[in-house]
Amino acid sequence: VRAAVMRAENEPLVIEELTGGSLLGARQVLVQVDATGVCHSDLTILSGAVPLPPPMVLGHEGAGTVLDVGGLVTRVKPGDRVIGTFAPVCGDCWFCLHGEGQYCRNAMSVMLEYPWQQPDGTPVMSMSGLGTFAEQMVCHEWSLVPVESTLPAEQLALIGCGVATGVGAALNTAAVEPGSSVAVIGCGGVGQFVIQGARIAGAAQIIAIDPVEFKRDTAVGFGATDVLDPTGLDVPREVRKLTGRRGADYVFEVLGRSQTMLDAFKATRKGGTCTIVGMASNDDTVTFAANDLYAQGKRLLGCYYGGSQVRRDFQRYVDLAETGRLDIGGVITQRLPLSEVNDAFTAMKSGTAIRTVLTP
Ligand SMILES: [Zn+2]
Ligand SMILES: [Zn+2]
Repeated sequence: VRAAVMRAENEPLVIEELTGGSLLGARQVLVQVDATGVCHSDLTILSGAVPLPPPMVLGHEGAGTVLDVGGLVTRVKPGDRVIGTFAPVCGDCWFCLHGEGQYCRNAMSVMLEYPWQQPDGTPVMSMSGLGTFAEQMVCHEWSLVPVESTLPAEQLALIGCGVATGVGAALNTAAVEPGSSVAVIGCGGVGQFVIQGARIAGAAQIIAIDPVEFKRDTAVGFGATDVLDPTGLDVPREVRKLTGRRGADYVFEVLGRSQTMLDAFKATRKGGTCTIVGMASNDDTVTFAANDLYAQGKRLLGCYYGGSQVRRDFQRYVDLAETGRLDIGGVITQRLPLSEVNDAFTAMKSGTAIRTVLTP
């Protein structure tokens, strides 16, 4: 199959012909990739900020159709529409049994498989056990969630990362209350879904903060009531001005940078909730004023995968989209063939795209 392979850090991906998909393990599934989104985390891996060894098929936000299954597979069958989860869930470990499947104990074992080979026999890993930048993927059944849906594949693809992370951050992690004030720092794909999640939860005020004008405009279309260009501004001060001098009830950081994490914490009102959604670089460190946690009672929440329980929530996000309460298609600003994957990264770096979707 054709796949976009990362051969080295910071080098363009190379379209290669890989083999191996016909040899399915007992719990493995062969999936035809119908669409895949290009997420900032793909760029984070490519840049080496979170080191993973090449060669690797990148891509972790995809949807497709099951072509074939190994002998012991029970969760999916050929013909099923499936969404990939970048956090595999075994269903039986302590975390899976406690409604925190995103931390599944057994996930790593299925993410370190090498399903493909290059023509010279070199084994190739798949990012997060998925590797969606390809015509097909071979993954463990724990990495797939079947859904009932008539949505186009490009929308199902985004549920696998952007929607689950962003909408989940608002609904699951922070549990935004109706009538509350919300500020979102970073209005890329995930940030736009945090904004929509806050709107779905019934927030009265949603402040969208991003230096790129068209991202702020997009945010208004998705429910933002105020916008801020943070360039040269003291963001916490501006947020307090917009929220009765208190700070926002809920602040979300969706960039993964220590400076904006600190801004998010400072922009949170006393007793409010600051949720860190962004994926940071491994060597970044953030320092908070210790007394803000005590005397100001601020709650600081980490957020992995939007707290989504994928086997419960993927269908929930599908249902919200099918009834028009969640706009997934509106976040897609560019559609490209798989062979032009490097152009998607260029657009991401220049801030001219919110979400690019690739089709094989
Ligand atoms: Zn992602
Ligand atoms: Zn588990």
